[in-house]
Amino acid sequence: NADTAMYHAKEQGRNNVQFFTAAMNAAAAERMTLETELRTALDEQQFVLHYQPQVETQSQQLCAVEALIRWQHPTRGLVPPMRFIPIAEETGMIEAIGAWVLDEACRQLAEWRQAGMRVSRMAVNLSACQLRSPNLIAQVQATLKRHRLDRGDLELEITETTAMANPEHAIAQLHGLRESGVLLAIDDFGTGYSSLAYLKRLPIQTLKLDRSFVRDIETDPNDAAISAATLALAHSMGLKVVAEGVETEGQRHFLATHRCDVLQGYMFGKPEPAEIWLARWQAAAAQTSDPIL
Ligand code: C2E
Ligand code: MG
Ligand code: MG
Ligand code: MG
Repeated sequence: NADTAMYHAKEQGRNNVQFFTAAMNAAAAERMTLETELRTALDEQQFVLHYQPQVETQSQQLCAVEALIRWQHPTRGLVPPMRFIPIAEETGMIEAIGAWVLDEACRQLAEWRQAGMRVSRMAVNLSACQLRSPNLIAQVQATLKRHRLDRGDLELEITETTAMANPEHAIAQLHGLRESGVLLAIDDFGTGYSSLAYLKRLPIQTLKLDRSFVRDIETDPNDAAISAATLALAHSMGLKVVAEGVETEGQRHFLATHRCDVLQGYMFGKPEPAEIWLARWQAAAAQTSDPIL
């Protein structure tokens, strides 16, 4: 009863108990506030996409950009996806947010091209909820059509964990997407639990080697071995590899030596708003008639 509980709380450090409860309440309140604010974020157009370059390892030329969502919160500033995508997933808001991301990334690619900028491919992240949705394929097809994009203009990234959560369903969905002309990549490869039997059946073109292996690739023999083995496995399956989180010349050199196809990371550019990309292209175009970013 209450008296006994009070006694125990006093005896076992009441201050700690109170502090713990207060901290839990604060975290729960903070989460509820974020959830409420997230509901208005779409209507008020508070989301924005930043774009990060992917470059061909050999030529170091731009071959694709990845769209990464940010929340321009009226008072908190730029909120990173890891703070709100999980909440959006749990509450189902990811359906609407994901549809916006897909449309906005495709719209942006079409707009850049109209301005003369050359970007061969747009990569967009898909959440687990989106992959489960029976509307996904029709939605992707309609979006490509709306912006008059071609086969191969769009690459969808699905994390290894998402793909393996329900592999039979993922295989079916990915086949549908593939038939619509979309390129498919497995994101954060190496951080989940892939069954090679399923991996073989996924109609994918690309593996993205997770940043956690790239970080210490020069100093940690295990990371070096995992990266080299992933590259060999992917290539033997006819897949391209994109390395994530490339920051240093040493990392670039290791990856180039092991024939990694594409590099992505701060060394080649951080995610940046579309206007910055266009301004950079226009500045380069002022120098040469056919600039390559
Ligand atoms: P991801 O798809 O694996 O994206 C790569 C993340 O690594 C991005 O973080 C990017 O900014 C960061 N990054 C890239 N290069 C470097 C580097 O050299 N060093 C370091 N330290 N970090 C680097 P970001 O933008 O915070 O996104 C985090 C994750 O949020 C993404 O991981 C993706 O899983 C998710 N996400 C982002 N945008 C969307 C979206 O539109 N929809 C969904 N469903 N998820 C998204
Ligand atoms: Mg990604
Ligand atoms: Mg990734
Ligand atoms: Mg990652």
